[in-house]
This record gives sequence, structure tokens and C-alpha cells, in this order.
Amino acid sequence: MKRREFLKFSTASCMALAAMELGGGKAFFRPAKAMASGELPGSLGAKEVYSVCEMCFWRCPIVAKVKGGKLVKIEGNPKSPANGKRVCARGNSGVQLLYDPDRVKYPMKRTGARGEGKWARISWDEALDEVAYNMKKVRKKYGPHALAYFDHGASAEFMRGLFMHMGTENYSNEPAFFQCVGPVAEAFISSMGYLVSGTRQYTDMGHAKAILLVGSHIGENVHVSHVREYIQGLANGAKLVVVDPRFSAPANKADVWLPIRPGTDTALLLAWINYVIQHKLYDKDFVANHCEGFEAVKEGVKDYTLEWAARICDLKVADMEAAIRMLAKAAPNVTIHPGRHSTWYGRGDVQRHRALAILNGLLGAVAVPGGLYLPTPVKTGKSECPECEAEVEEPDTSLKDDFPYAGNFPGNPTAKIIEATLTGEPYPIKLWGVNGVNILQTIPNPYDTMEAIKKLDFIFTESMMADEAAMWADIVLPGATYLERYDSLHTYDGITPYLAVRQPAVEPLFESKSSYWIARELAKRLGVDCYPCEHEVEYIEEELKGAGLTLEKLNRMGGIVSYKANPYRSRKELKLPTESGKVNLAVAHYEDDDFDPVPKFEPTPAPPKGYARLIYGRVPVHTFSRTMNNLWLHNEWPENHAWVNDEVAAKLGIADGDTIVLENQDGKRSLEVKAKVTPGIRPDAIYLPHGFGSRSKRLTRAYGKGASDQFLITHYENCPFTGASSHRTSFVRIVKGGKALDIPELRPLPREIPRFKKSA
Ligand code: SF4
Repeated sequence: MKRREFLKFSTASCMALAAMELGGGKAFFRPAKAMASGELPGSLGAKEVYSVCEMCFWRCPIVAKVKGGKLVKIEGNPKSPANGKRVCARGNSGVQLLYDPDRVKYPMKRTGARGEGKWARISWDEALDEVAYNMKKVRKKYGPHALAYFDHGASAEFMRGLFMHMGTENYSNEPAFFQCVGPVAEAFISSMGYLVSGTRQYTDMGHAKAILLVGSHIGENVHVSHVREYIQGLANGAKLVVVDPRFSAPANKADVWLPIRPGTDTALLLAWINYVIQHKLYDKDFVANHCEGFEAVKEGVKDYTLEWAARICDLKVADMEAAIRMLAKAAPNVTIHPGRHSTWYGRGDVQRHRALAILNGLLGAVAVPGGLYLPTPVKTGKSECPECEAEVEEPDTSLKDDFPYAGNFPGNPTAKIIEATLTGEPYPIKLWGVNGVNILQTIPNPYDTMEAIKKLDFIFTESMMADEAAMWADIVLPGATYLERYDSLHTYDGITPYLAVRQPAVEPLFESKSSYWIARELAKRLGVDCYPCEHEVEYIEEELKGAGLTLEKLNRMGGIVSYKANPYRSRKELKLPTESGKVNLAVAHYEDDDFDPVPKFEPTPAPPKGYARLIYGRVPVHTFSRTMNNLWLHNEWPENHAWVNDEVAAKLGIADGDTIVLENQDGKRSLEVKAKVTPGIRPDAIYLPHGFGSRSKRLTRAYGKGASDQFLITHYENCPFTGASSHRTSFVRIVKGGKALDIPELRPLPREIPRFKKSA
């Protein structure tokens, strides 16, 4: 497809993903204008509820349309500066989450073996009494750190406060930090002084003259405002450089696509940094006045030439040179995208993102249109209806001790919680609470996770769907979906700052309850002085006071209040939130912890002979494993395909569409999956879209569809800075007709890169 055609297509289709551009309403609970009297199909005549989407973590403001007490449609809130009337396919499909017949409907107690998913219905009182009894018992017998909480998202926040109040250091904000943004968060905080990740990317792609994406798949991972900004930038003529071993959706539109050898991105970035310095392409004024450590960087990267990187990365010098010149020419209005999911290889992950931060600094792409911009905080009040006060007592040996920068972020490394549960060292962990996350489809080596669960005295989940994690629970608590509950205020401090509130479109279905109600009832049973407000609305009203609002006023205003953004600074007034107020090109304090102030290239081991590296990504209509059972989304994309290089496939006798199985270096096999034979992936990698291959029989649509990458990731390493777990350190070969087929090595491996050693 030609680029111009793509842009036309993508404005329609990315948002086809998106694009439910039907009229939204202006008032809370106001009937929309009906065009005819009587009952009509669709959303005409529906009452409109302003809320915030939670089909992914991006939190787009929405309008939920309710008719006859039923949710009939979800649209973007037209007043939202971020997404307007648009929602993506998943946002639209919240309707099917609400009415999914496979939802957890009642509190349940396990009747079979753990993992079997055999339960009996019990009352809320019985369920909460049992959870509270076990929490108290475990805490009394083993101490507070024997309690662990795996959590994600707004629904999990109240109960996280409760676990912290019980004194444990083991809560984990699990998939968001330790399986995702940990390394990039650390790299940019140390370099720029603020967190550039998660839903706060602070990348001004809409005004960029050039964009660099390293392993970021915008358009395959869809977050409406992010995709809008990206498309706006491309439509305005921004050049696009994409570094990816796979011909991804953005590679498809790139001016330069660099199909890099997996594991060598830092080599490319360091060679580019050296090139920019040697060819004096850097922003001299910005570096002299707003950067620290230029000379150390110049010295540290001087041996990393493009010729060296070409061999390591398996790229052409001319292509690398064209790309960096394209980016430098656009400076300072260039987006050197920090990326988000950064838990790739463990060792070296922070330094890869440090290299991206250095490029940002050298090109002066900070606090300017098109570059990284500065947040505009939205002021809200502190609730007088207090949350649980954290009462965490540091244990003699903390699970964070090996990771000097883990302490800058909430909770403990997930991998260490699992390890301690398995070994009892440095202290026993005997009870897990799980909320808002499918721990078996997000944490590497689910086999270890299952073994750890077997060692627990007790495990409970708060779940909307009976996913794999719920299958292992002793007690399952039915959590209300985002369409049935309130959550804390949502403020967005990005390029379009605003404030919105998640509020229920319908009453909780079945016996599901809001996360606030569950946390509060549990707190009462634990004798803990938490959450004195009777209802979460009181809590929200207090927060709104600080913004000069009430819920009623906010709803009268259309559910959104927007604020003036302040993203850019003149060079004279620029002061970053680092100690010096400048970009740390070299991070001096890393030396105190034996880390390099200037990144070095540390090769990650290449696949063992006969294997390819397993890489993964997303499809635009699913949010990880969370949406696989959703009727509309399942119909759009019911299963994944394993991408296999066409030359590799020809040598192995595999045709496009063949049914195969993937086997990893530890002999673990996937469920059956169809091969997608394509020249669009390197011969030393196999790609699987993430989240498929459900093993929960209670998810009747998703069960057994496609292959799970997570169940093949059995080898991982921890990031030495943060303790986050690596996800791209497992390798696979292909099994066809029951026969294991070795992957032929079609690209020579340079001697500097060691091979991964399989255990005997
Ligand atoms: S990007 Fe889509 S799923 Fe995510 S919050 Fe926005 S509308 Fe919802």
C-alpha cells in the first residue's frame, strides 16, 4: 500500500479500530433526542452516562448509552480532548464484557484440586469471612510479608491499600511495572527526571518532523490518543524510522525499516550516538546549556562505529546512516520514542532506554514541539475520607535488596515473590491475593507460578472472568466491571490535560460488587481502620473538591473538564526535574551501584543451534488475554498465527496455514497454532501475538484458541536495576506432525554474541 493510501486508510481504520463517530450527549442521565416514539433498536432514546473506559489501561473518556436498563452502546465522549467521539474496537466491545455469560457471577469456593476450576457457589459473607480468616491466620503465624498481592488497574487499588496496611512489602503492580515499563521508567527518571512510560508517554508525535520507533508497534497496540497523534504526525509529513526484526504495522509505513537482529538494539543506538557526535549533528546549544556528561558519553561510545554495528545488528551501514541523518535533520522536532514494554532481555534493558534518552538529549528534542514534552499536572483534592495508611515494616532481608532501583517504584519484583513462595527464602510467603491480572498469562514461567501456588496456604482472586488465575483460587470474588462501578478520579497530564470520572452505567450484575465495597468489607473483618466512607462516591466528591468540582457539576459539564496544556519551554526557562535541572547524558550516581554511567553494549545470548528467538506483540482488537473471550472481539480475531520466515519454512516443508506446535528450549510445547509464512520476519525469530491460547475451560470462547507465548517463556532474567523480568529470552523450534524440526541458521552470528546454553 502506498503511504498516502495508508494515511487515508488508517485515519478510517486505525480508528476502525476505532471510530464510532455517532453523536454523543451533553448531560448526565439525559435522554438523547429520540427520532420516533416507542421502543427503537440501537441507542436512540438512551440515557447517557459519562465514564472512563477500562477495556485497556489507556482510560479513554466514554459515553455509555443505556436503554431499558441495558447498556446498548459505548462511544467516545465528544468533549474529550484525547479521543473525542472515538473508541477503539475494544472500547466499543465493553458491552460484551458486561454481558459475557462466562463472567464470574457469584462468590465461589474451590471444591476440586487447585487449577481444576471446580467451585461451589457461596455467600458474600462466607467468602469474605474466609478470606479475612486466612489473611489474619497467615499474618499471625508467619508475619506480614507472608501476604502477597498481585494487582493491576484501578479496580485493584483499594485492596492494594489494604495489603499495605497489613504491613506486607509484597504487592507488585505486577504486569504494569515488573513485566512491562520497569526498565524504561528507570532509564528516563534517571536521565530526564520524570517518568515517561505507561499511559504517560509525553511524546509529541503529532508535531514531529521525524519519528523513531524501536520495537514499538503503534497501530498493533492501539491506544486511541496515541494512535491519533502518530497518524497526525505522519499525515503532516513526518519521516518514520522503525527498528524491528518483523515487518510490523509501523514498519509497513516506514521511510526506513531496519530489520535488526533481536537483542542488538543497544549496539545500533550507541553507534548512532557516536555518529551524531563525530559528525557534529548534535544540538550544540542544548548540549552545552541543558545536558550533563557530554564528554563522558563522547568517550564512552567512541568505538561504536556504524561498521561495527552493521555486523552486530545484521544491518546495512547505508540504511543506518540514512536513518540517523533523517532523524538528526528533523531535530529538535523529532520523537525519539522511549517505548513502553521494555522487559526484553533483563540485563541491558535499562541501558537500551538510557541510549534512547541520550539521543533525545543530543538532538535537543526536549520540551519542544515534536519531541518529549513536559507534563501539565491536573490539580485535585486529597480525600478527607482517607485511604489505608501503609504500615510496611522493612524486613531484615527485602526482596528488593538485589535491585538498587526497585525501591523507586511501588511493590516488589514479581519474580522474587514467586521465588520466595517456592523456596521460603528469605522468608515464607503463604497467601496470595490476585486482582485485575491473569498472573499465568503475564509472568514468565507459568509452570513455576503454578508450583508456587501449590505451596500456598491460601489464594483468592477478585475476578470478572474465570481466567487461568481464577482457576487456581480457593475463593473467587466476583468483581464488578468498569461499567458497574466508580473508581478514583482519572486525570491526564499529557498534551491534552483533562479530568474525568469512571461511573457506573448499570447496577452491578449478578452478585458482583465494586472493588471499593469488597476492600471495605474485608477491612472491617480484618479489624483494620480503612475506608471509613460508606460509599466510593463520598471519596470521589472529596477528590473533586480540590478541582473546584462536584460530581453533579462535572456531569453537567459533559463528564470532562479540560485544562490548558503547558508542554513546551523556551530554552531560557527550561529546567528539568533532575538534580541539576538538565538531561543526564551520563548518570553519575549509577557508579555507586556498579552500573555504567554511560551505556555499554552487553550482548544478550543468541538462540541455541536449531532454535529461533520467540518474540511477541499485540493485535489491535485485543488487550492481552483479558479480552479473548469477548464475543465481538473474538469474532474479529479468534486465534493467533505463528509468524515463520519464508526461507526457513521452505527448508522445513511448512506451508502458510499449516498447523504446527512450538517447542521451547526446555521442551515445553504450545497448543496447536497455524503458521503464517512470510518474508516479513527474520529467519532467527518466530513471532506470536500475545494473549491467546487460553487454558481456562470456563472461558468457553477463548479456551484452546491459538498458542500462548507466555507458556513458552520459561527462561527469564531479572533486570539488575529494577528486578523486572525479561520476556524475550526464550527460544523455540517447530513441531509438525509430531516431529521436532530444527530452525536452520540462515544469518551468520558474529563472534561477539554468545549463544544461549540449553540446560542438559
Ligand atoms: S484505547 Fe480503546 S480499549 Fe483502551 S481505553 Fe481507549 S477505547 Fe478503551
